[in-house]
Amino acid sequence: MSAHTSTAASASADAATQNPDNSGPRVVRAAHMPAEAPHVPVVIVGAGACGLTAAVRLRDAGLDCVLLERDSMASGSTALSSGFIPAAGTRLQKSLGIDDSSEAFAQDIQAKAHGEAAPELVRAYSQAVGPAIDALEQHGIGFEVLDGFLYPGHRVRRMHALPERTGAALMARLEQVASAAGADVLTDALVRELWLTDQDRVIGVGYQRPDGRMEHLACDALILACNGFGGNTGMVGELLPAMRQAVFAGHVGNDGSAISWGRELGARLADMGGYQGHGSWVTPQGALMSWAVMMEGAVQVNALGQRFHDETLGYSEAAVHVLDQPGGVAWNVFDAPLLALARSFPDFVQAEEAGALKSAPDLDTLARLIGCDAQTLIDTLAAVGPGEADAWGRRFKRPLEAPYYAVKVTGALFHTQGGLDIDAQCRVLKADGAALPNLLAAGGAARGVSGNAVWGYLSGNGLLSAVGGGWVAAGTVASMLAADAAA
Ligand SMILES: Cc1cc2nc3c(=O)[nH]c(=O)nc-3n(C[C@H](O)[C@H](O)[C@H](O)COP(=O)(O)OP(=O)(O)OC[C@H]3O[C@@H](n4cnc5c(N)ncnc54)[C@H](O)[C@@H]3O)c2cc1C
Repeated sequence: MSAHTSTAASASADAATQNPDNSGPRVVRAAHMPAEAPHVPVVIVGAGACGLTAAVRLRDAGLDCVLLERDSMASGSTALSSGFIPAAGTRLQKSLGIDDSSEAFAQDIQAKAHGEAAPELVRAYSQAVGPAIDALEQHGIGFEVLDGFLYPGHRVRRMHALPERTGAALMARLEQVASAAGADVLTDALVRELWLTDQDRVIGVGYQRPDGRMEHLACDALILACNGFGGNTGMVGELLPAMRQAVFAGHVGNDGSAISWGRELGARLADMGGYQGHGSWVTPQGALMSWAVMMEGAVQVNALGQRFHDETLGYSEAAVHVLDQPGGVAWNVFDAPLLALARSFPDFVQAEEAGALKSAPDLDTLARLIGCDAQTLIDTLAAVGPGEADAWGRRFKRPLEAPYYAVKVTGALFHTQGGLDIDAQCRVLKADGAALPNLLAAGGAARGVSGNAVWGYLSGNGLLSAVGGGWVAAGTVASMLAADAAA
């Protein structure tokens, strides 16, 4: 990406100091910023889907903003993702005759979370993400609604994606659109310090350059869009012990900065046990195999040739089930029609090119590939077919037929869903429930809409929180600054 440097931000070198101890995230209490620190109305920490969506809305409202991004090229977890954003009531859905509403979407989110997702956020995000997608479309992002299958838990087709079906393509388009709208992305800017007055009003940030120098930027409002703590092994071990040994497939730079600041500030954290796992991380190649293949009839068997769960309940909790199997691995087993579906996903194509796909003309050969007892595998697949629900409650439309295909997978941590507690306007809440006046958080930096456990994650909750949350946070900031200006 091209790094845009705002006049304000480049002038901030005047206010540069050395970071004395190269410390991690910290809060600085001060009445004002260093005199030379340039000023911008809104600073956004992190240039992923959340930060960039917020920037687009801020620019639409005529507000200047600077996104501070730690990497030299913004990518974040967004670029690693499949880029599928669930949204209800969009212009695109209507043009395709898909009958959907934010209420229906909210019900699906709560059904997956067993009613334990924060209701005000479920409502706010499910209402916001449709208008956000429509607005991004108007800025020139050519979304499509994914066709052909339903993701687990969604009653209608509402996954919006780019034709490339990759998060990298989504990131590229979001950056182009945000830059064209006039947002400044300052890269190589690792935000270390949040500066607040004693009355908890944010007055700016301090960020570290690759050479170790600290620079400062004053602002009227701050949006934390720096995702969660999946890249911080210490925090994962502390907060998500079930994922301690799991591969982290997200962006390693997401080190829990927002949580560290929140803890120091006395902010409330919520849903810290919630996360997006994935039970289909191709190993050892390290790639995602789409769960669509499971939804359409594939099964997972362990190294003994046995199934162990209802795969259609969701890919997130499947991570835990897979990690519980011998060796922490499983085999995705499918047949030719499902192979064709798998090949419609770029991630799978790459994994296949890297040698992940095994094929077998019959079940004896497949058993040898997996290393399991042939009769066990034959019995397992004999139970896959139309009729009664199986031992886990899954029903199949058809049996799997030779030739067979298999891909070895493990359970991975994709991103964390716990974070700063926020209200429906994305304002960060203190321990007593009071909202901080001008500190906002969204996307993976804030609590999500999956409740407090892995099974609460409805497909797409990650980018819902990023895009819907970024949209909400920017709207709040725009109203807040307009009210301040009018006062
Ligand atoms: C393999 C995979 C597939 C996925 N597929 C999907 C999907 O199809 N649909 C879906 O909804 N979700 C999916 N997800 C989850 C999704 O990627 C995330 O929920 C989403 O990208 C979060 O967006 P974000 O903007 O909050 O964070 P990010 O995109 O991670 O952006 C945060 C940015 O903040 C920067 N940053 C962090 N700390 C600092 C700091 N202190 N200073 C400056 N910058 C900082 C980071 O470098 C990063 O660029 C997937 C995840 C993975 C790993």
